[in-house]
Amino acid sequence: MLTTTTTTDPIALDARHVLQVYRRAPVVFETGKGCALFTRTGERYLDLISGVGVASLGHAHPALARAIADQASALLHTSNLFHHPLQSELASQLAALSGLPRAFFCNSGAEAVEACLKFSRRFWYTQGTPRAKFVAFHHSFHGRTMGALSVTWDDHYRAPFAPLVPGVTFVDPADPSAIAAAIAQDTAAVIIEPIQGEGGVRPLAQRSADAIAAACRRTGALLIADEVQCGMGRTGRPFYSTALGLEPDLMALGKALGAGVPIGAALFSDRVAAAARPGDHGSTYGGNLLACRAALVFLDELTRGGLMEQVARTGAYLERGLRAIAARQPAITSVRGAGVMWGLELDRPAGAVVEAALERKLLINRTSDTVVRLLPPYVITEREIDEALPLLEAAIATVVEAPGA
Ligand code: PLP
Repeated sequence: MLTTTTTTDPIALDARHVLQVYRRAPVVFETGKGCALFTRTGERYLDLISGVGVASLGHAHPALARAIADQASALLHTSNLFHHPLQSELASQLAALSGLPRAFFCNSGAEAVEACLKFSRRFWYTQGTPRAKFVAFHHSFHGRTMGALSVTWDDHYRAPFAPLVPGVTFVDPADPSAIAAAIAQDTAAVIIEPIQGEGGVRPLAQRSADAIAAACRRTGALLIADEVQCGMGRTGRPFYSTALGLEPDLMALGKALGAGVPIGAALFSDRVAAAARPGDHGSTYGGNLLACRAALVFLDELTRGGLMEQVARTGAYLERGLRAIAARQPAITSVRGAGVMWGLELDRPAGAVVEAALERKLLINRTSDTVVRLLPPYVITEREIDEALPLLEAAIATVVEAPGA
């Protein structure tokens, strides 16, 4: 029989009733404002991870909060059995931004990746020359559903859930000749993260991007850009794949797009979209009025409110600050990223830096074991960067000075 607890402490209740798949820090946040999060007792933390790249407009953004409340009192959800004006408006705005004219809406990044994988195969099936294989990259991360996991590199995520979708080849993203050899006439699609996020904040090199583009042209393989983490203006440009000169046939979006309201999107070129038939795919919640309204507020801020230019400016300021820290802290072996997406590679595990930062009320995280990652809200100001960087440097210094370090 289920034994229930009488405690109301969220940490104790989580430990008892929530599936233990996360290593949560022992902090409970109740409110937020801009780049700050507050505990029940009013302690303020500076948030440079934004819910893993989601709170693009910061917390409790006034225009977003108003729009959500307004939408809740008008209509939240009708399913995809009917039309509503916000999904079509969002699809057309994403088409204008990306050059990919058709969208499928879902609720997360992994679902967007699933849709891209499925419709890559659907495209080849419709051509009458089925191709089932995918090429992905070392250090890739595309999500945790079975399909997305199948194109995710790290065995740590994969092994407990095998067997996964067969036919995936992983290739070194820094090796253009290996890329050229791996992409073949039977490749349905190549899936890239233009800047790998979970794999350690690793931007794709221009010569690798060129090799991918050439191999896709040569073999007809489709190109999927997973822009879930690095896209939607995070680098001060709409999408990092297009900044590399790539022309993806499919794109996966999520995270920042809903600014905290769950939404994902897969975008398609006309020729890939032409293969889709009613009933091929779907999502009960996908693209409902609430999620689309939130995404439209985000896009309005990004494109008309000057947020993309702000990210380019503050991102450059953040980069200068991080490089200055790296020049003083020899434990930092590399600084990688763009805009408001940065990784500091350390010569040691990065977990202790994250804990030392938390003690200083600065929220960052670790990825790929040795990389400290920053994904601040797009709205972060130079003043907040000036506040955060000394805390970050102190956290790094503590770990370097720790006994036995
Ligand atoms: N793709 C990339 C590049 C990601 O970084 C992530 C999440 O971190 C995903 C896909 C999966 O997104 P979600 O967690 O929303 O399913």
